[in-house]
Amino acid sequence: MTLQQTHIPRKRFGQNFLVDRNVIEKIVRAFNPHAGEHIVEIGPGKGALTTPLLTIAKHLYVIELDRDLLPSLENQCRDIGKLKIYQSDVLKFDFNQIETPPHQLRIIGNLPYNISTPLLFHLLKYIDCIKDMHFMLQKEVVDRLAAKPGTAEYGRLSVMIQFHCNVEPLFSVGPRSFQPPPKVESTVARFIPLKQEHRPPVNQAQFANIVKQAFSHRRKTLRNNLKTLLREEQILNCEIDPNIRAEYLDINAFIRLANALDNNI
Ligand code: SAM
Repeated sequence: MTLQQTHIPRKRFGQNFLVDRNVIEKIVRAFNPHAGEHIVEIGPGKGALTTPLLTIAKHLYVIELDRDLLPSLENQCRDIGKLKIYQSDVLKFDFNQIETPPHQLRIIGNLPYNISTPLLFHLLKYIDCIKDMHFMLQKEVVDRLAAKPGTAEYGRLSVMIQFHCNVEPLFSVGPRSFQPPPKVESTVARFIPLKQEHRPPVNQAQFANIVKQAFSHRRKTLRNNLKTLLREEQILNCEIDPNIRAEYLDINAFIRLANALDNNI
């Protein structure tokens, strides 16, 4: 028996391996890799996506935490193309070590669901290097990431990610496409970094601060949630009603509040 067959999936590494050929093809088609691109796969696992990606791209970077999976992954890919393996925790991985021209890094992964939110925040630090990202995530998380103002799913995560990226849910994937099957539905989503020159300038730290505080108690009004940061008249000066809740504000409204905080106006 090969290691591929004997490897027992590790729950702590979020190991739900893709086994559905149709889904694998659909993801690769949506990603649309080309030779010569700078492509990074997070969590290659047993290579379900790695092999078809490498076949087309001929060169691939992969970041995998579970060292036991690496020898067979190397063997499997040896004759297909050039695989550069980083045995590392992606949450600590410095993406600057992959040398790419600005906005050229393409990132893909069937992500371990237990780290998906901190991973997205980690990736935002490298947003200027990134061309696009395609991730399989828990459906509920994608619903929150892509949510629009005024919906129940819209919250801190939606605002922080949509400040940097356009989020496009692509298709859903049922538990039976994985081995072992996860307990939840999954969705593949595309993330495309937005050009920041199209946004009003804002101090990032103050923006994060305002968003965190505004959503600190979902049922409370902005006036209440922001009272340690802004006076009611400052909120009104931003052309925002202090009696509404944060879930009704779009990103530009949060930018205006952050600028009021920053400039103390
Ligand atoms: N890409 C494979 C597939 O689709 O079948 C595996 C996907 S599985 C959901 C997630 C993969 O991420 C596993 O191979 C797991 O070992 C790896 N992983 C988990 N935590 C990680 C971390 N912090 N850094 C890097 N890889 C991680």
